[in-house]
Amino acid sequence: MNIIDFRSDTVTWPTPEMREAMATAQVGDDVYGEDPTVNELEHLAAEMLGFEAGLFVASGTQGNLTALLTHTNRGDEVIMGLDAHTFTSEAAGAAVLGGITYLPLPTDHLGRMNVEQVAAAIRPNDPHYPVTRLISTENSSGSNNGAAISPNYFAALREVADQHHLALHMDGARFFNATAALQIDPKEITQYIDSTSICLSKGLCAPVGSVLVGSQEFIQKARRVRKILGGGMRQAGVLAAAGLISLREMTKRLHIDHQNARLLAEGLAKIPGILIDPAVVQTNLVFFHLDDTVQIPKEEISARLKKDYNILISSNYRLQKFRAVTHYWITAKEVHLLLKALGEILAA
Ligand SMILES: *Cc1c(COP(=O)(O)O)cnc(C)c1O
Repeated sequence: MNIIDFRSDTVTWPTPEMREAMATAQVGDDVYGEDPTVNELEHLAAEMLGFEAGLFVASGTQGNLTALLTHTNRGDEVIMGLDAHTFTSEAAGAAVLGGITYLPLPTDHLGRMNVEQVAAAIRPNDPHYPVTRLISTENSSGSNNGAAISPNYFAALREVADQHHLALHMDGARFFNATAALQIDPKEITQYIDSTSICLSKGLCAPVGSVLVGSQEFIQKARRVRKILGGGMRQAGVLAAAGLISLREMTKRLHIDHQNARLLAEGLAKIPGILIDPAVVQTNLVFFHLDDTVQIPKEEISARLKKDYNILISSNYRLQKFRAVTHYWITAKEVHLLLKALGEILAA
């Protein structure tokens, strides 16, 4: 019996079409700029996202780190959300490797910083302070139910950034989930930002990789930073071939994952003991809690799902929080299996 894996969209295997494209990809040495498939991927990503140039990188973490190091100099400061992945889960790479300080600000239920607070956090030109150089955002917001943030927030941040000559980066690991949920062209948001890094390896199903996009000048600098980080990958066209299918095909089907996430959330809301507001589910991340009527030790729930039903979900017992993520390899059938399993476990 196959494992049904709801832990994340990072668990997605490449599709048969991707494996075929990988097997037959035209390749060259990408550090020499000679891999036609990587070049095609970088151009396509830049075009879809409304930028001049793109850079294929190993991961979302490498994309954000490359962006932060490219936008800043040692001693600079980056303003970002307290619950942004770049602050919480990327091992403070820009601090470790770039001598950059992070100024984390609180975010609202959608993962947005308060724009006035951002403006107030920008340092005056005074030798006591680091130099504020960059504002970093995230869309969709992984810590806030995968919320899709709409263009007006980025327009407001752009104004602040322009007043103070700051750059504006967006961690777009799941940006295509955000634009699918908002039903807008990515450019409606990216017109306001200087760079973004999108993950091919999450809901877009590629086995490996992200693309960082920005101006020609920015990407030229970023290429050197990527080399410093050990990210020059030679015949990377084998990977980029899958990424092309991610951008061309998989971006068009994310609404299906969102429908399944909504189906899951609505089903969970009907199970006694589970706390969830289905209305907050806009994309493919479904978070839920358990109420005090639940008798079974919370630690046992994931274990029982795995042992008795071959289903994996994520759990954070400290926060008593569970996460189930929909993706290409999860259909409505698997959603119903999870709902049935949880219903049975909690009824016992
Ligand atoms: C997954 C993720 C990243 C990092 O991507 P990796 O490819 O895992 O390094 C960055 N930001 C957000 C919001 C993510 O969800």
